[in-house]
Formats: sequence, structure tokens, C-alpha cells
Amino acid sequence: MVTEAQARRILYARGNKNAYTMSGFSALKLVENKTPPPKKKDTTLDDFGKAGMGAAFNPVNPRTVASCKRYYEAGIAGDECKMVLQQAQQYERMTGKEMFGIDTQKISIYSILPRLIFGMTERNIIYIKNWYSLAPTDKQTLAPYFDYRGVAYPGKSGLFIKDQLPKGRQEKRMFETFNIIHGLDIQVTPEGYIYIPNFQDSDSYIKDLLEFYFTPDGYAKMYFQNGFLSRLGLQLREHVPSKIKTREQLLTVFQKIKKTEFTPEQAKKIILKKNPSLKTDIEKMDPIFANHLLSRYRTYILWSPFFKEQLMLLGTTELADDVFKLDEEYEKVPTALAVTYYNKGKLGIAISNAYSANPHKVALFLEESIGNGWIPKGCNKLDYITAHEFAHGLVHIYDLSRDTLIRDIELKLLAEGKVSEEVSLHAELNIREFIADAWCEYVLSDHPRPPAMQVGDRVLEFLQKKVIVL
Ligand SMILES: [Zn+2]
Repeated sequence: MVTEAQARRILYARGNKNAYTMSGFSALKLVENKTPPPKKKDTTLDDFGKAGMGAAFNPVNPRTVASCKRYYEAGIAGDECKMVLQQAQQYERMTGKEMFGIDTQKISIYSILPRLIFGMTERNIIYIKNWYSLAPTDKQTLAPYFDYRGVAYPGKSGLFIKDQLPKGRQEKRMFETFNIIHGLDIQVTPEGYIYIPNFQDSDSYIKDLLEFYFTPDGYAKMYFQNGFLSRLGLQLREHVPSKIKTREQLLTVFQKIKKTEFTPEQAKKIILKKNPSLKTDIEKMDPIFANHLLSRYRTYILWSPFFKEQLMLLGTTELADDVFKLDEEYEKVPTALAVTYYNKGKLGIAISNAYSANPHKVALFLEESIGNGWIPKGCNKLDYITAHEFAHGLVHIYDLSRDTLIRDIELKLLAEGKVSEEVSLHAELNIREFIADAWCEYVLSDHPRPPAMQVGDRVLEFLQKKVIVL
């Protein structure tokens, strides 16, 4: 007795082209009737690859090729699969027909996958933990997605997970869910239940991934709240919703705070009174910058409780290098004007010693930058420096670069090639600079343009959330 599968293989080996399409019954019947093999015909391309491998293991059999692709996905493909795919590709080249749908890049990545150990950085970017032990050719294969340190390029984490990480990898579902959770507008009812508004209207792919964690009407199941998020390295953090809800309110508070001027020494005292553990040396700065930093600090801690909690340094780059023990010595880089550091949930905002002591130097920089479009229109003000760095602080603390609404605004402009025209040249660098410069225009310009208004309004809206996913 033969099984159906064996019968099909036997028939195929006998040259029956319909071996895999006929019904199982016919296949068995034909084999059991011991139909004599058809007369030997001339060798055709269809016979290619059979030699020496046994007819049942025909590399150009679409089923064999498909199985091998699945073995690759599952990370269990052996040398024979490699040979099958090579021969199938050779066959495609010989016949000039693409029939097996072999994605060479994907297959090469699949063959490396079993050796890769993935991790996720603190900023939710995937990276390869054992990058330095990989062969140069492996690194080459992964180069479209990972940089020279094995960290996914900005925006490539999600793409790699979706397109290249096969279902067989246990991290797949976790990473995918992780990415989706991040883009979700998670809210909390007054009774404290976590839910996703309009969950029913989400697309089926998202619903499929989340059905394990959410009820059909979008409420988180209990075990979702305990443990699932922490396994993903995510936190739902309760947030005191901001009372500042509009641009006008924000600007009014800022103007009011800005009215009183202080000496740099007084500014330092005020900051330390708000947070005694904050590191600052703003007494070294020109009074203009000390006051800018103080006003923005006072406004932003009123507006965001996380900002107050996480800002641990506000001062010069010299102090920042000292406190953060950074490899880069920013105070020695003449072109570094200001830097925002974010490390292990702690934020530092620093202005270079040279610039912070010399408003004239900053004014020259701004004049040049507004001329060549590097900074947004209406931002040729000394306060641009602090507005920009504080915006970076918000981006870090609230993970704003993952916000789907903000990303959509950026993607639309990118697609139209209008980022530099409608925001700034600087904003073209990456999503973080895009948000920071749009934000500057929002708070500094008398007439912010539409992208700045959209981004700024979204940031205000974001800070009104009761729960934030980080
Ligand atoms: Zn920046």
C-alpha cells in the first residue's frame, strides 16, 4: 500500500504532469493499477535537476520549493534546501520565467536568522545582541535594516519585523504587538478601565493581533494589565493631564512667567528650589540664556509632570559631559550649540559654554540659519535654542516620535518633498528634528504654518492623556 503523497511522488517520477493536481483517489488508482510508465521522451527543461537526486526530490517541483521556503522561515532549512532553491533559481534563469517567487534577500536573511539574538533598546528600537560575532557577509546581508552597530535604522524596526522576521520566530508576535500598542490611543475610563476608543473600527490585522489582550469592544482583559506590558518592556504610566489645552493658554503662561527677569545666580536658586537634585550651572551663562532656560523650565514643569520628574540637568555642555560621563566631549566641539541627552529615563538639556555666554554668537548663527532655511520661518529669535532643546526633551519623555498622528503629518510632507519648504531644512534630518522644529514654530512664530499647528496641537493633546504608553 502507498499513501496518497507517495502515490503522487511515484506518478510525478513517472513523468505524469498532473501528479499533484489530480484527485488523491485517481493518484492512488493509477499507482495501484501499475500503469506502465510512458515511453521515454526527449529530455526537456522540466527534467532539469532530477539527475542524481532521486526523482522524488525534484528541486523544481513547486511543492519542494515551497516546503524549502517554509523550512527557511522556520529556521530549520538544511543544505539540501539550499541546493533546491539554488537549482530552482537556476531553472528560472534558464527558462527566463519567474515561477517560484524566491526572494533572494529574504532567503539570505532567513539563513542568518537562526544565529541572531534580538533585543530592544530603551528607546524601543530592535537591535542584534550578538552583532559583533557575525561574519562580515552576514552583516552585509542585514545592512539594509541595521547600522554598523547592529541597531535598526530609524523607521526600520517595524519594517524588519513585518517583512523579514518570519512567523516562526517567537519574538515576531511580541515585537509586532509592541509596535501596534505603541501606536494606539490607549485611554482609561473614570473607573480605571483601560480601553481603546473605536476598537471595532480598527483594521482586521490589528484586531487579530490584539484579540488576545482586548475584548471585542476594546477593553483590556485583566491579564493584559498585569504582566503583558512589562514583558514587552512597556509601561502604562498614569499621567496628570495637562490643564493647558490650547496654544493661546500655553503662550499666555509663558509670557507671564517670562515678564520677571532674574540674574543668572537668582535663576539657579529658583530652579534648585523647584528641584533640589537637579544639576545646573546656569549661573555661568549670559543673563539672556539663563532667563530663557528658567522661563521655559517653569512653564514646562507646570505643563508636564513627567518633565519635572525626569529633567536632571539644565546647564552647559561642560557640566553635561561631567554628569553624564559621555564619550563625546561636546564642550570641545566648536559647532555643537546645544544638546539634549536622554539616558535611562533621565533627561539633560545643555547649551554649549561658548554659545551660552555669548548671545552675539547665537544671533549670528540664527541669522545665517534663517537665511538658508535651516530653521523654520519666524524662529529667528535667541529663544529658538531653548525652545528647540526643550522640544527634544518632550520627544524623549513622551516618545512622541512614535505617535502615529505626528508620523502621518511628517510622512505626508516627506512624500510631497515639502519638509524643508513647510517646516525647515533641519526638520528633514529625522522625525525628532521634525517635531522639535515644528514645535519651535508653534511657540515662537506669530503665524505658524499648518504643519507646525498640527504637530503643536497634537503635542498639547498628548499631554492631556491620563495614561501614557512608554
Ligand atoms: Zn535638534
